[in-house]
Amino acid sequence: MADCLFCKIAAGDIPSNKLFEDDDILAFYDIDPKAPVHFLVIPKRHIASAAALTEADAALLGHIYATIAALCRRLGVGEGGYRVVTNVGEDGGQSVAHLHFHVLAGRSMKWPPG
Ligand code: AMP
Ligand code: ZN
Repeated sequence: MADCLFCKIAAGDIPSNKLFEDDDILAFYDIDPKAPVHFLVIPKRHIASAAALTEADAALLGHIYATIAALCRRLGVGEGGYRVVTNVGEDGGQSVAHLHFHVLAGRSMKWPPG
């Protein structure tokens, strides 16, 4: 989608610090980390947010979560635990309108989030 930051990152038009990539998804480090480990996982296809997901996206979501688990194991935070967050819309705190999953790890998370 034109003018979408994460579509441009997915296409390689804007550089990112990549952790993993395949035909469908991309994982890259967040530019403004909120934890010792903070990366984002996005579908390459433009989906505005989790609110736009349908039943047809079930396999994509399974792939995203399995990849998150594998990457966390690879980064050594699989055992200690981690948090996966997707912000939706203005009240949810979403600033980039392309579905992304924050993966935060390496410190003890607080609850509830702000
Ligand atoms: P959200 O506020 O939930 O929409 O999350 C958007 C995230 O994208 C924020 O954590 C930003 O720090 C991150 N971000 C913005 N631009 C970039 C970029 N060029 N590379 C990596 N992460 C980015
Ligand atoms: Zn996009």
